[in-house]
Amino acid sequence: MALEKLQQARYLLLLVSNQPGISLGAITESALHRQYLCLAAALRRQHIQLRGFYYCPHHPAGSGEYACYCMCRKPLPGMLLRAAMEWGIDLRQSWMIGDILDDVEAGNKAKCKTILLNQGNETEWLKGRYRTPGHIGDNWKDIARIICP
Ligand SMILES: [Zn+2]
Repeated sequence: MALEKLQQARYLLLLVSNQPGISLGAITESALHRQYLCLAAALRRQHIQLRGFYYCPHHPAGSGEYACYCMCRKPLPGMLLRAAMEWGIDLRQSWMIGDILDDVEAGNKAKCKTILLNQGNETEWLKGRYRTPGHIGDNWKDIARIICP
């Protein structure tokens, strides 16, 4: 499996996700944590260790404490910078893999190598200085081949 291959190549696997539904009242943080624990458990059964989960709960149109412009919501690189600090990661030696160009932009802004996992989720294709992926893959097998040729 692709993630196993990356793990064997000694990459730390971290999940980085915008979760505006928290600010917008569509999901609670505890429900989000339960989803993450389910995902991590499912991966663990396949011997894959997801090491961390970073999420942005903010949205400017939300309500409560999370209604704001923040530095963590992708396409800004805040979550990647925080993960790098907490894990002692060299971002230039890291890969940001995402299925939309906001992910690519966050990765490029953090100076990661970037891959767009092109599965039809990007629909706008807005151009911009940081929005060109280093690589494009159609599936995780492609991604493993790009990172560990
Ligand atoms: Zn945020």
